[in-house]
Amino acid sequence: MCGIVGYVGPRDADGVLISGLRKLEYRGYDSAGVATVTDGDIEVRRAVGKLDNLVGVLADQPLAGSTGIGHTRWATHGRPSEQNAHPHRSGDVVVIHNGIIENYVPLRERLLAEGREVLSETDTEVISHLIDMEMNGGGDLLAATRAALAQLEGSFAVVAMSRHEPGRLITAKNATPVVIGVGDGENFVASDIPALLDYTRDMLFLEDGELADVSTAGVEVSTFAGKSVPRSPKRVTWDPVTAQKGGHAHFLIKEIHEQPQALIDTMRGRVAQDTGDVVLPELAALEDHIKRAERVAIVACGTAWHAGLVGKFIFERFARIPAEIDYGSEYRYRDSVLTDKDLMVVISQSGETADTLAALEVAQERGAPVVAICNVIDSSIARKADAVLYTHAGPEISVASTKAFTTQLAALYLLGLFVGRLTGRIDDALEAEAIQALVEIPNLIKRTLACEKDVER
Ligand code: GLU
Repeated sequence: MCGIVGYVGPRDADGVLISGLRKLEYRGYDSAGVATVTDGDIEVRRAVGKLDNLVGVLADQPLAGSTGIGHTRWATHGRPSEQNAHPHRSGDVVVIHNGIIENYVPLRERLLAEGREVLSETDTEVISHLIDMEMNGGGDLLAATRAALAQLEGSFAVVAMSRHEPGRLITAKNATPVVIGVGDGENFVASDIPALLDYTRDMLFLEDGELADVSTAGVEVSTFAGKSVPRSPKRVTWDPVTAQKGGHAHFLIKEIHEQPQALIDTMRGRVAQDTGDVVLPELAALEDHIKRAERVAIVACGTAWHAGLVGKFIFERFARIPAEIDYGSEYRYRDSVLTDKDLMVVISQSGETADTLAALEVAQERGAPVVAICNVIDSSIARKADAVLYTHAGPEISVASTKAFTTQLAALYLLGLFVGRLTGRIDDALEAEAIQALVEIPNLIKRTLACEKDVER
């Protein structure tokens, strides 16, 4: 859920891309990459970790070209690694993406069956393959992207580039922000305004369901269905610091406002649209154990511990299973009674909370499997747990937690309802009512936040 930057114009693209990505560093990331078109081909450079690692790679292997795309990744599908870092190249096309492609599993299976070589573990790579297949060795990037988008479900800010069309980027948006910076003989794409303020203050904002054809000649906006949308740029007067906060006074307010989207992302694909059931394939390997579990031991620290307090009520109410909640720092030092008939649920935003990790190890020593609720892919706790339910809150900068906490609650509700269904202990009417209430929450939060000014008054 991190940063994207794109450039077309007369400058060397790599410099614009790196400076833009630097301005997005506050969004947090685990890896980064850039790609340019040069001499009719695409070149990609990627590195895990800090942006400086990518800068180091570029110093050794510089990139020419004045059309390019760059990305900082906050992994949602597939661990942080060079291979999973964006941009993803398939054939003639290279793509960067922020968001989650919900239906990537069936798409990936179809691509494999058609003989495509899928190189990463990400949900994103299906997009570059689909566009490349639509391009069919030449083609028109706009038409091909449009045809690929029609097959995608989920949230995305995507930028695509073709080796056949230097000087052109196609960008599309659904439920993840995209802003286009309009310059003189050059144009820019980014996930957030600060990335572009050094170059232009004239910004054009895409709405959900729109894509833009961005070239040195100009920017043309249209709907996914192909209807042209007249849109003029707006002049942004924010200073760079305010821009980082999306115009809000501070990160706390910004993140409060990000809750509806974070909750949608956490629940995305986990409530079946046809049956309304909770589906958690992440827990498949533990299903037999969960059916027999006699108790749930929840362990967490700080904010996550508060989510765990609610979790106890959730497990008791929806799954009729006794639940207890402990602080990680207490749990690891007491001689708890835990056996292979129990299930441990640990909660940690970062997945690095040392006391919680120690409690997880105690549980595993005693034969109790552990489900982790984490926000950071491939973190220590996520790697050690027997199953992980990721919240998709994105990075949280404010120390007072907001979206990290509420997405933990959503994950606990999903888990409690799932366990209730699996054990057959939940009443059908209660289940239907709870799931319906859960999916309405993002919208209710949105409506509540719309009252901000009245509350302030
Ligand atoms: N879902 C994509 C991935 O895991 C994009 C993540 C992002 O938004 O940074 O690679």
